[in-house]
Amino acid sequence: MTTYTADWILPIAGEPIAGGFVAVADGRIAGVGRGRRADARDLGRVAVMPALVNAHTHLELSYLHRRVPPGTSFTEWVRTLMALRGQYPNPEADEIVTAARAAVTAAQEAGTGLVGDISNTLMTVPLLRDMSLPAQVFYELIGFNADDPVRRVTEARRRADALSGGDVRVSLAPHAPYSVAPPLFAAIRTDVDASAHPVSSVHLGESADEVEFVRDATGSIRALLEQLGVWTEAWRGQLPSGLSPVGYLSELGFLDRRVLVVHGVQFDGDDLSQLGALGVTIASCPRSNRYVGAGDPPLEAFYAMDVDVAFGTDSLASVADLNMFAELQTARRLAPRVPARRLLESATLVGARALGFGSEFGSIEAGKRAALIAIRVPADVRDVEEYLLGGIAPSAVSWLTPN
Ligand SMILES: [Zn+2]
Repeated sequence: MTTYTADWILPIAGEPIAGGFVAVADGRIAGVGRGRRADARDLGRVAVMPALVNAHTHLELSYLHRRVPPGTSFTEWVRTLMALRGQYPNPEADEIVTAARAAVTAAQEAGTGLVGDISNTLMTVPLLRDMSLPAQVFYELIGFNADDPVRRVTEARRRADALSGGDVRVSLAPHAPYSVAPPLFAAIRTDVDASAHPVSSVHLGESADEVEFVRDATGSIRALLEQLGVWTEAWRGQLPSGLSPVGYLSELGFLDRRVLVVHGVQFDGDDLSQLGALGVTIASCPRSNRYVGAGDPPLEAFYAMDVDVAFGTDSLASVADLNMFAELQTARRLAPRVPARRLLESATLVGARALGFGSEFGSIEAGKRAALIAIRVPADVRDVEEYLLGGIAPSAVSWLTPN
Protein backbone atom coordinates (compact mmCIF):
# COMPACT_ATOMS: atom_id res chain seq x y z
CA MET A 1 0.00 0.00 0.00
CA THR A 2 1.17 3.52 -0.84
CA THR A 3 -0.37 6.53 0.86
CA TYR A 4 -0.08 10.05 -0.53
CA THR A 5 -0.88 13.32 1.14
CA ALA A 6 -1.39 16.58 -0.70
CA ASP A 7 -2.59 20.12 -0.11
CA TRP A 8 -5.77 19.33 -2.06
CA ILE A 9 -7.59 16.13 -2.90
CA LEU A 10 -10.46 16.41 -5.39
CA PRO A 11 -12.48 13.20 -5.11
CA ILE A 12 -15.11 14.59 -7.57
CA ALA A 13 -17.63 12.31 -5.85
CA GLY A 14 -17.48 14.66 -2.84
CA GLU A 15 -16.25 18.03 -1.56
CA PRO A 16 -12.61 19.01 -2.24
CA ILE A 17 -10.41 18.15 0.73
CA ALA A 18 -7.79 20.68 1.89
CA GLY A 19 -4.96 18.66 3.36
CA GLY A 20 -5.97 15.08 2.69
CA PHE A 21 -4.71 11.64 1.78
CA VAL A 22 -5.29 8.90 -0.79
CA ALA A 23 -4.22 5.32 -0.18
CA VAL A 24 -3.53 2.98 -3.10
CA ALA A 25 -3.10 -0.79 -3.07
CA ASP A 26 -2.78 -3.16 -6.02
CA GLY A 27 -3.67 -0.44 -8.48
CA ARG A 28 -6.90 0.46 -6.72
CA ILE A 29 -7.94 3.18 -4.32
CA ALA A 30 -7.93 1.80 -0.78
CA GLY A 31 -9.00 4.96 1.03
CA VAL A 32 -9.38 8.72 0.80
CA GLY A 33 -9.94 11.29 3.51
CA ARG A 34 -8.99 14.30 5.51
CA GLY A 35 -5.73 14.80 7.36
CA ARG A 36 -2.06 14.01 6.84
CA ARG A 37 -0.54 10.61 7.43
CA ALA A 38 2.87 10.28 8.98
CA ASP A 39 3.88 7.33 6.78
CA ALA A 40 2.65 9.00 3.59
CA ARG A 41 4.51 10.41 0.62
CA ASP A 42 3.87 14.13 0.86
CA LEU A 43 3.23 15.54 -2.60
CA GLY A 44 3.04 19.11 -1.29
CA ARG A 45 1.30 21.92 -3.14
CA VAL A 46 -0.63 19.87 -5.68
CA ALA A 47 -4.23 18.93 -6.38
CA VAL A 48 -4.73 15.18 -6.67
CA MET A 49 -7.69 14.24 -8.84
CA PRO A 50 -8.91 11.36 -11.00
CA ALA A 51 -7.46 11.18 -14.51
CA LEU A 52 -9.46 13.15 -17.05
CA VAL A 53 -11.86 11.47 -19.46
CA ASN A 54 -11.83 12.56 -23.09
CA ALA A 55 -15.30 11.41 -24.13
CA HIS A 56 -14.91 12.13 -27.84
CA THR A 57 -11.88 12.01 -30.05
CA HIS A 58 -10.78 10.39 -33.33
CA LEU A 59 -7.19 9.27 -32.75
CA GLU A 60 -6.92 7.81 -36.25
CA LEU A 61 -7.24 11.35 -37.68
CA SER A 62 -4.19 12.63 -35.77
CA TYR A 63 -2.12 12.69 -38.97
CA LEU A 64 -4.41 15.45 -40.27
CA HIS A 65 -3.26 17.89 -37.61
CA ARG A 66 -2.97 21.39 -39.11
CA ARG A 67 -3.87 20.05 -42.55
CA VAL A 68 -7.57 20.92 -42.62
CA PRO A 69 -7.95 24.71 -42.49
CA PRO A 70 -10.62 26.20 -40.20
CA GLY A 71 -14.02 26.17 -41.87
CA THR A 72 -16.32 29.05 -42.48
CA SER A 73 -18.99 26.50 -43.38
CA PHE A 74 -19.33 23.09 -41.77
CA THR A 75 -20.04 21.23 -45.01
CA GLU A 76 -16.99 22.77 -46.67
CA TRP A 77 -14.92 21.58 -43.74
CA VAL A 78 -16.28 18.04 -44.11
CA ARG A 79 -15.57 18.13 -47.86
CA THR A 80 -11.92 19.05 -47.25
CA LEU A 81 -11.54 16.35 -44.61
CA MET A 82 -13.04 13.70 -46.91
CA ALA A 83 -10.74 14.68 -49.76
CA LEU A 84 -7.67 14.42 -47.55
CA ARG A 85 -8.69 11.07 -46.05
CA GLY A 86 -9.28 9.77 -49.56
CA GLN A 87 -5.56 10.21 -50.26
CA TYR A 88 -4.72 7.68 -47.51
CA PRO A 89 -6.50 4.43 -48.31
CA ASN A 90 -4.26 2.34 -46.03
CA PRO A 91 -5.28 2.87 -42.36
CA GLU A 92 -2.04 1.23 -41.20
CA ALA A 93 0.18 3.66 -43.11
CA ASP A 94 3.25 4.70 -41.10
CA GLU A 95 2.22 8.33 -41.06
CA ILE A 96 -1.19 7.47 -39.57
CA VAL A 97 0.14 5.07 -36.93
CA THR A 98 3.00 7.35 -35.87
CA ALA A 99 0.68 10.35 -35.48
CA ALA A 100 -1.88 8.35 -33.50
CA ARG A 101 0.80 7.05 -31.13
CA ALA A 102 2.15 10.54 -30.55
CA ALA A 103 -1.38 11.80 -29.89
CA VAL A 104 -1.97 9.10 -27.26
CA THR A 105 1.32 9.96 -25.52
CA ALA A 106 0.48 13.68 -25.50
CA ALA A 107 -3.02 12.99 -24.14
CA GLN A 108 -1.60 10.84 -21.35
CA GLU A 109 0.99 13.49 -20.50
CA ALA A 110 -1.82 16.04 -20.19
CA GLY A 111 -3.61 13.83 -17.63
CA THR A 112 -6.10 11.87 -19.72
CA GLY A 113 -6.69 8.32 -18.49
CA LEU A 114 -9.74 7.16 -20.46
CA VAL A 115 -11.00 8.00 -23.95
CA GLY A 116 -14.06 7.56 -26.12
CA ASP A 117 -12.43 7.03 -29.49
CA ILE A 118 -14.29 7.08 -32.79
CA SER A 119 -12.78 4.83 -35.45
CA ASN A 120 -13.83 3.91 -38.97
CA THR A 121 -10.95 1.46 -39.36
CA LEU A 122 -10.29 0.04 -35.85
CA MET A 123 -6.56 0.73 -36.32
CA THR A 124 -6.56 2.40 -32.88
CA VAL A 125 -7.69 -0.67 -30.92
CA PRO A 126 -4.34 -2.54 -30.78
CA LEU A 127 -2.55 0.78 -30.43
CA LEU A 128 -4.60 1.83 -27.37
CA ARG A 129 -4.06 -1.57 -25.77
CA ASP A 130 -0.33 -1.46 -26.48
CA MET A 131 -0.08 2.01 -24.93
CA SER A 132 -2.25 1.12 -21.90
CA LEU A 133 -4.87 3.79 -22.48
CA PRO A 134 -8.28 2.40 -21.46
CA ALA A 135 -10.92 3.21 -24.05
CA GLN A 136 -14.37 2.74 -25.35
CA VAL A 137 -13.79 2.58 -29.08
CA PHE A 138 -16.84 3.35 -31.19
CA TYR A 139 -16.62 1.50 -34.49
CA GLU A 140 -18.32 4.14 -36.59
CA LEU A 141 -20.41 3.13 -39.57
CA ILE A 142 -21.38 5.42 -42.43
CA GLY A 143 -24.02 4.50 -45.00
CA PHE A 144 -26.56 6.91 -46.35
CA ASN A 145 -27.66 4.44 -48.95
CA ALA A 146 -26.65 1.09 -47.45
CA ASP A 147 -28.53 -1.68 -49.22
CA ASP A 148 -28.00 -4.41 -46.64
CA PRO A 149 -27.70 -2.78 -43.21
CA VAL A 150 -28.13 -6.01 -41.23
CA ARG A 151 -25.27 -7.72 -43.04
CA ARG A 152 -23.06 -4.64 -42.58
CA VAL A 153 -23.74 -4.62 -38.86
CA THR A 154 -23.13 -8.36 -38.57
CA GLU A 155 -19.76 -7.99 -40.26
CA ALA A 156 -18.85 -4.98 -38.13
CA ARG A 157 -19.84 -6.90 -35.00
CA ARG A 158 -17.55 -9.78 -35.98
CA ARG A 159 -14.61 -7.39 -36.36
CA ALA A 160 -15.46 -5.62 -33.10
CA ASP A 161 -15.65 -8.90 -31.16
CA ALA A 162 -12.32 -10.05 -32.54
CA LEU A 163 -10.59 -6.94 -31.17
CA SER A 164 -12.59 -6.02 -28.06
CA GLY A 165 -11.41 -7.01 -24.60
CA GLY A 166 -9.89 -5.89 -21.33
CA ASP A 167 -9.63 -2.13 -21.02
CA VAL A 168 -10.23 -1.47 -24.71
CA ARG A 169 -13.84 -2.20 -25.58
CA VAL A 170 -15.38 -1.85 -29.00
CA SER A 171 -19.00 -1.08 -29.80
CA LEU A 172 -20.80 0.08 -32.93
CA ALA A 173 -21.90 3.64 -33.59
CA PRO A 174 -23.61 5.49 -36.44
CA HIS A 175 -21.81 8.61 -37.70
CA ALA A 176 -24.62 11.17 -37.99
CA PRO A 177 -28.23 11.58 -39.20
CA TYR A 178 -27.09 12.94 -42.58
CA SER A 179 -24.70 10.06 -43.30
CA VAL A 180 -26.56 7.03 -41.94
CA ALA A 181 -29.94 5.85 -43.24
CA PRO A 182 -32.76 4.87 -40.84
CA PRO A 183 -32.41 1.09 -41.47
CA LEU A 184 -28.71 1.23 -40.57
CA PHE A 185 -29.54 3.18 -37.39
CA ALA A 186 -32.06 0.46 -36.53
CA ALA A 187 -29.59 -2.37 -37.16
CA ILE A 188 -26.93 -0.69 -34.99
CA ARG A 189 -29.50 -0.10 -32.25
CA THR A 190 -30.36 -3.82 -32.24
CA ASP A 191 -26.68 -4.71 -31.99
CA VAL A 192 -26.06 -2.27 -29.12
CA ASP A 193 -29.05 -3.65 -27.19
CA ALA A 194 -27.61 -7.16 -27.43
CA SER A 195 -24.01 -6.35 -26.54
CA ALA A 196 -22.19 -6.89 -23.25
CA HIS A 197 -21.25 -3.22 -22.91
CA PRO A 198 -24.18 -1.41 -24.46
CA VAL A 199 -22.94 2.06 -25.31
CA SER A 200 -23.04 3.98 -28.55
CA SER A 201 -22.41 7.46 -29.88
CA VAL A 202 -23.65 9.72 -32.64
CA HIS A 203 -22.65 13.17 -33.92
CA LEU A 204 -25.81 15.24 -33.48
CA GLY A 205 -26.89 18.83 -33.85
CA GLU A 206 -23.41 19.96 -34.83
CA SER A 207 -24.14 22.46 -37.60
CA ALA A 208 -26.93 24.58 -39.04
CA ASP A 209 -26.36 22.64 -42.29
CA GLU A 210 -27.35 19.41 -40.52
CA VAL A 211 -30.45 21.01 -38.98
CA GLU A 212 -31.58 22.22 -42.40
CA PHE A 213 -30.95 18.85 -44.00
CA VAL A 214 -32.85 16.82 -41.39
CA ARG A 215 -35.75 19.28 -41.41
CA ASP A 216 -36.16 19.91 -45.15
CA ALA A 217 -33.68 17.63 -46.98
CA THR A 218 -32.18 20.72 -48.60
CA GLY A 219 -29.00 22.77 -48.44
CA SER A 220 -25.30 22.06 -48.70
CA ILE A 221 -25.45 18.57 -47.20
CA ARG A 222 -28.03 17.53 -49.77
CA ALA A 223 -25.72 18.91 -52.47
CA LEU A 224 -22.79 16.95 -51.05
CA LEU A 225 -24.78 13.69 -50.96
CA GLU A 226 -25.84 14.25 -54.57
CA GLN A 227 -22.23 14.81 -55.61
CA LEU A 228 -21.20 11.64 -53.81
CA GLY A 229 -23.89 9.80 -55.76
CA VAL A 230 -25.67 8.46 -52.66
CA TRP A 231 -28.66 10.79 -52.49
CA THR A 232 -32.09 9.14 -52.59
CA GLU A 233 -35.52 10.74 -52.16
CA ALA A 234 -36.54 7.70 -50.09
CA TRP A 235 -33.86 8.23 -47.40
CA ARG A 236 -36.25 9.27 -44.64
CA GLY A 237 -38.49 6.21 -44.99
CA GLN A 238 -41.67 6.64 -42.94
CA LEU A 239 -40.30 9.46 -40.81
CA PRO A 240 -41.83 12.93 -41.17
CA SER A 241 -39.95 16.01 -42.32
CA GLY A 242 -39.75 19.12 -40.16
CA LEU A 243 -37.99 17.46 -37.21
CA SER A 244 -34.89 18.65 -35.38
CA PRO A 245 -31.95 16.21 -35.33
CA VAL A 246 -32.93 15.20 -31.77
CA GLY A 247 -36.59 14.80 -32.75
CA TYR A 248 -35.58 12.72 -35.75
CA LEU A 249 -33.37 10.27 -33.81
CA SER A 250 -35.90 10.13 -31.05
CA GLU A 251 -38.60 9.13 -33.59
CA LEU A 252 -36.18 6.49 -34.84
CA GLY A 253 -35.92 5.10 -31.31
CA PHE A 254 -32.17 5.47 -31.26
CA LEU A 255 -31.74 7.72 -28.22
CA ASP A 256 -31.52 6.54 -24.64
CA ARG A 257 -29.12 6.66 -21.70
CA ARG A 258 -26.67 4.35 -23.46
CA VAL A 259 -26.06 6.86 -26.24
CA LEU A 260 -23.55 9.68 -26.13
CA VAL A 261 -24.66 12.50 -28.43
CA VAL A 262 -21.73 14.54 -29.62
CA HIS A 263 -21.70 18.35 -30.09
CA GLY A 264 -25.28 19.66 -29.72
CA VAL A 265 -24.31 23.16 -30.88
CA GLN A 266 -27.77 23.51 -32.43
CA PHE A 267 -29.87 22.07 -29.57
CA ASP A 268 -32.79 24.19 -28.40
CA GLY A 269 -34.86 24.00 -25.23
CA ASP A 270 -37.19 21.30 -26.60
CA ASP A 271 -34.22 19.18 -27.67
CA LEU A 272 -32.61 19.53 -24.25
CA SER A 273 -35.75 18.61 -22.32
CA GLN A 274 -36.15 15.50 -24.50
CA LEU A 275 -32.52 14.52 -23.96
CA GLY A 276 -32.79 15.15 -20.22
CA ALA A 277 -35.88 12.95 -19.99
CA LEU A 278 -34.16 10.17 -21.96
CA GLY A 279 -31.02 10.32 -19.80
CA VAL A 280 -28.78 10.96 -22.80
CA THR A 281 -25.30 12.41 -22.20
CA ILE A 282 -23.99 15.20 -24.44
CA ALA A 283 -20.28 15.09 -25.31
CA SER A 284 -19.39 18.72 -25.89
CA CYS A 285 -16.27 19.68 -27.87
CA PRO A 286 -16.34 23.50 -27.86
CA ARG A 287 -12.89 24.13 -29.37
CA SER A 288 -13.65 21.91 -32.35
CA ASN A 289 -17.10 23.43 -32.85
CA ARG A 290 -15.60 26.82 -33.39
CA TYR A 291 -12.81 25.49 -35.65
CA VAL A 292 -15.13 23.73 -38.08
CA GLY A 293 -17.39 26.76 -38.38
CA ALA A 294 -20.32 25.30 -36.40
CA GLY A 295 -20.34 28.02 -33.73
CA ASP A 296 -20.44 27.78 -29.92
CA PRO A 297 -22.55 25.22 -28.03
CA PRO A 298 -25.17 26.55 -25.56
CA LEU A 299 -23.24 25.04 -22.66
CA GLU A 300 -25.00 26.93 -19.89
CA ALA A 301 -28.35 25.73 -21.23
CA PHE A 302 -27.11 22.11 -21.18
CA TYR A 303 -26.46 22.42 -17.46
CA ALA A 304 -29.52 24.55 -16.72
CA MET A 305 -31.74 21.91 -18.36
CA ASP A 306 -30.12 19.16 -16.26
CA VAL A 307 -28.71 17.20 -19.16
CA ASP A 308 -25.56 15.20 -18.36
CA VAL A 309 -22.55 16.84 -20.02
CA ALA A 310 -19.18 15.22 -20.76
CA PHE A 311 -16.31 16.84 -22.65
CA GLY A 312 -14.20 15.74 -25.56
CA THR A 313 -11.49 17.32 -27.64
CA ASP A 314 -12.60 15.88 -30.99
CA SER A 315 -9.73 15.04 -33.35
CA LEU A 316 -6.45 16.79 -34.04
CA ALA A 317 -7.91 17.66 -37.45
CA SER A 318 -10.04 20.29 -35.70
CA VAL A 319 -8.24 21.14 -32.47
CA ALA A 320 -4.77 22.32 -31.44
CA ASP A 321 -4.10 19.51 -28.96
CA LEU A 322 -5.76 16.71 -26.99
CA ASN A 323 -5.28 18.49 -23.64
CA MET A 324 -8.58 18.21 -21.76
CA PHE A 325 -7.55 21.06 -19.47
CA ALA A 326 -7.50 23.32 -22.54
CA GLU A 327 -11.01 22.09 -23.40
CA LEU A 328 -12.11 22.93 -19.85
CA GLN A 329 -10.64 26.41 -20.21
CA THR A 330 -12.82 27.06 -23.27
CA ALA A 331 -15.83 25.51 -21.53
CA ARG A 332 -15.35 27.86 -18.59
CA ARG A 333 -15.30 30.83 -20.95
CA LEU A 334 -18.56 29.71 -22.56
CA ALA A 335 -20.24 28.85 -19.26
CA PRO A 336 -19.09 31.39 -16.66
CA ARG A 337 -22.05 30.76 -14.36
CA VAL A 338 -21.77 26.96 -14.12
CA PRO A 339 -20.10 25.93 -10.83
CA ALA A 340 -16.47 24.91 -11.34
CA ARG A 341 -17.16 21.58 -9.70
CA ARG A 342 -19.76 20.63 -12.28
CA LEU A 343 -17.35 21.34 -15.14
CA LEU A 344 -14.68 19.19 -13.48
CA GLU A 345 -17.24 16.44 -12.89
CA SER A 346 -18.11 16.58 -16.60
CA ALA A 347 -14.45 16.06 -17.54
CA THR A 348 -14.15 13.03 -15.22
CA LEU A 349 -17.07 11.16 -13.70
CA VAL A 350 -19.80 12.01 -16.22
CA GLY A 351 -17.53 11.02 -19.11
CA ALA A 352 -16.51 7.76 -17.40
CA ARG A 353 -20.15 6.82 -16.79
CA ALA A 354 -21.20 7.66 -20.33
CA LEU A 355 -18.42 5.44 -21.69
CA GLY A 356 -19.53 2.55 -19.48
CA PHE A 357 -16.51 2.80 -17.16
CA GLY A 358 -18.26 4.58 -14.26
CA SER A 359 -17.44 1.89 -11.71
CA GLU A 360 -13.71 2.02 -12.55
CA PHE A 361 -12.78 5.61 -13.38
CA GLY A 362 -13.83 9.23 -12.92
CA SER A 363 -13.64 9.74 -9.15
CA ILE A 364 -11.50 8.99 -6.12
CA GLU A 365 -13.55 6.37 -4.31
CA ALA A 366 -12.46 3.18 -2.59
CA GLY A 367 -12.38 0.26 -5.02
CA LYS A 368 -11.94 2.30 -8.21
CA ARG A 369 -8.76 2.23 -10.29
CA ALA A 370 -5.94 4.37 -8.97
CA ALA A 371 -5.78 6.37 -12.22
CA LEU A 372 -4.73 9.54 -10.42
CA ILE A 373 -3.00 12.74 -11.45
CA ALA A 374 -1.41 15.53 -9.44
CA ILE A 375 -1.49 19.12 -10.71
CA ARG A 376 1.00 21.64 -9.40
CA VAL A 377 -0.79 24.62 -7.83
CA PRO A 378 0.85 28.03 -7.23
CA ALA A 379 1.07 29.37 -3.67
CA ASP A 380 -1.41 32.21 -4.11
CA VAL A 381 -4.33 30.07 -5.35
CA ARG A 382 -7.41 30.26 -3.14
CA ASP A 383 -9.98 28.44 -5.30
CA VAL A 384 -8.31 25.32 -6.58
CA GLU A 385 -11.30 24.13 -8.63
CA GLU A 386 -11.45 27.42 -10.49
CA TYR A 387 -7.69 27.33 -10.97
CA LEU A 388 -7.97 23.98 -12.76
CA LEU A 389 -10.31 25.59 -15.32
CA GLY A 390 -7.79 28.29 -16.21
CA GLY A 391 -5.70 26.14 -18.56
CA ILE A 392 -3.14 23.65 -17.23
CA ALA A 393 0.00 22.83 -19.20
CA PRO A 394 1.13 19.19 -19.39
CA SER A 395 4.33 20.20 -17.57
CA ALA A 396 2.24 20.86 -14.43
CA VAL A 397 0.65 17.38 -14.55
CA SER A 398 2.16 14.20 -13.14
CA TRP A 399 0.75 10.70 -12.67
CA LEU A 400 0.79 9.01 -9.28
CA THR A 401 2.71 5.81 -9.78
CA PRO A 402 2.88 3.68 -6.61
CA ASN A 403 6.19 1.99 -5.89
ZN1 LIG B 1 -16.28 13.63 -33.93
